[in-house]
Amino acid sequence: MKGMIQKNVYCIVVCMLLLKAATCVADPPPPTTGHPHSGAAVEEEPARFEEAAGHTFGFDDYTNWSQCANDYYSTPRVGRCTLPYASVAAGAVGTSFFRLKPISPQPTVTFSVNNSHLSFSPASTQTSRAVGFSPSSEWFSSAILDASIDSTQIASLQIQSLKSKTIKVGVRLVHGNTYNSSDISDNDIQSALTNIFRQACIEATIYRLSEKLVNFDLNNDSKLDVSEWTTNEMNKIIEKCDDNAYHFMVYIVSNPSDNSLGFAWFNQRHCFIHSGGGTIVAHELGHAQGLYHTYEKNSQLPQKGHDKHNVMDPFPNQNTTKLRYSQWNELNH
Ligand SMILES: [Zn+2]
Repeated sequence: MKGMIQKNVYCIVVCMLLLKAATCVADPPPPTTGHPHSGAAVEEEPARFEEAAGHTFGFDDYTNWSQCANDYYSTPRVGRCTLPYASVAAGAVGTSFFRLKPISPQPTVTFSVNNSHLSFSPASTQTSRAVGFSPSSEWFSSAILDASIDSTQIASLQIQSLKSKTIKVGVRLVHGNTYNSSDISDNDIQSALTNIFRQACIEATIYRLSEKLVNFDLNNDSKLDVSEWTTNEMNKIIEKCDDNAYHFMVYIVSNPSDNSLGFAWFNQRHCFIHSGGGTIVAHELGHAQGLYHTYEKNSQLPQKGHDKHNVMDPFPNQNTTKLRYSQWNELNH
């Protein structure tokens, strides 16, 4: 029973009760100003940095966080966050877009940074709002990139430099003695791992290993027993399918005894994937690298936050692809 409870807490369980518990208060409306000519109230477009199209690494602007997350980094969340975070691999180039309420004529926006190890370009802009930045290859701390008009700061971006890391992931389809498993394509898995873990400057590469038939269904119930970490049936798969040439192993095996999507314990090498696509693999690989679910006590994310697009949401799907600032650091501790 203990194992079942752990399984329910730490793995993916389709449980609508938990979803219902995450009820949040709606955001207060954004500040408005009166339009000087028409007199109609219009929304002020705040100056802010956003994720540029083509930004290679992570960007955390709290978008899609519920109001429950107002303790996020101790920053009150009213509308948009005023200080988003961007990650960039040491020695690489990142890009962020800078948005400003349309003003005519366009003012000159000047960029500046508080750390000499970070370079950026352009130094100022009137039209192009994208600014590229790159830390030196030996630098792992953070810096603030400011945007100013006439020496008045109007928006800032905190940039976190991380050392690039590569992990090798072995993927194996496992059939049982009583049934065959359904595969997930290499392209689906690889694209999800690339898009998600590069936010933490981690390059995750998959290696497809030959599929195996393992006599793991010891009780002949045509299911894989996953009631605890790990069961005898799971151990049988690990014993026959592991390859220690890889940092992590993914076993694709259908029909778990609890209908979960996948199962992986914290800070160990093995991930079991039962159904779903590449984002499920990324979710379990997150656990294997030490990440908790977004709502869990040990998560570095706010305990009440419901970050519905986070890859560590307890109900992962194709839209759960976001890694946040605290998770970048957890994955690179
Ligand atoms: Zn999980």
